[in-house]
Amino acid sequence: MHQYRHRGYIIIAAICCGLASVMFAKSYGIQTQNTAILSQNTTDNIPTISSSLSPTPPLIQITPISVNIPVVMYHYVEFVPTSDPAKQKLSINPIEFERQVKELTDTGYTTYFVKEIPRLVKGEIPISSHSAILTFDDGYEDFYSVVWPILKKYNIKGTVYVINNFLGKVGFLSKEQLIELANSDVVEIGAHTMDHINLKGVNDPIAKYQVTESKQDLESIIGAPIETFAYPFGGYRDELASLMKEASLSAVVTTTKGTFINSNNLFTIPRVRAGLLTRGSVSTALTQLINEK
Ligand SMILES: [Zn+2]
Repeated sequence: MHQYRHRGYIIIAAICCGLASVMFAKSYGIQTQNTAILSQNTTDNIPTISSSLSPTPPLIQITPISVNIPVVMYHYVEFVPTSDPAKQKLSINPIEFERQVKELTDTGYTTYFVKEIPRLVKGEIPISSHSAILTFDDGYEDFYSVVWPILKKYNIKGTVYVINNFLGKVGFLSKEQLIELANSDVVEIGAHTMDHINLKGVNDPIAKYQVTESKQDLESIIGAPIETFAYPFGGYRDELASLMKEASLSAVVTTTKGTFINSNNLFTIPRVRAGLLTRGSVSTALTQLINEK
């Protein structure tokens, strides 16, 4: 009799424990599937981790085939005199740049590096419904003196594409600055050829030299892997994709307008020009861009 009563208590206790853990999990919005993804990404500093414990978890795609993210293309972030219209066309002034970055922060955008795109496409990184990637071509000195302080201030990521043989020239980053930038949590360094030549118009050996040498030379300067590349002038041809793969590059950006990225265009990733964000709300402009067909 005693034995049966004892067993009864154990069964009741076990049921209570089970119910309690289910209620705990429900009240914190924890799902087995999401927990695995969140633990996997604790090293990626994705700011969705803490909010995942709220009753309404953020919008994430578990296994996306394609993603719709604006990759914004900047060149100069400087005050350029009106007497230099060519440079002015490629420039965003620092006050306008900070306005854009501040708005990204204020409206809850998550920013990523270009090197994170392959994992976003595979669904290995949670993707926010408000996502953007900022890129800066050519490695101008203003990336160090203007852009980087603003990225740090708002904790926004940026990928800068550097031309090896321009390093240290007037108006461009020095090797010392590049090494300092490479150690920053908010900066990714990418390759942009040795001499800023259009790869569309050169033969394979020259293209191969410009791609592999720029990657390896940058790696020896910063002491870390270079994973992504930007085509100078957006010039590419289909054969270059295999060259990029051989060089162990995982993502390459073009100047073609668009926001859809999938496993088929990782070596021809489209971008949008920063000038499109200068008229009013940045969030509205980005939303319009990702809704364009
Ligand atoms: Zn360029």
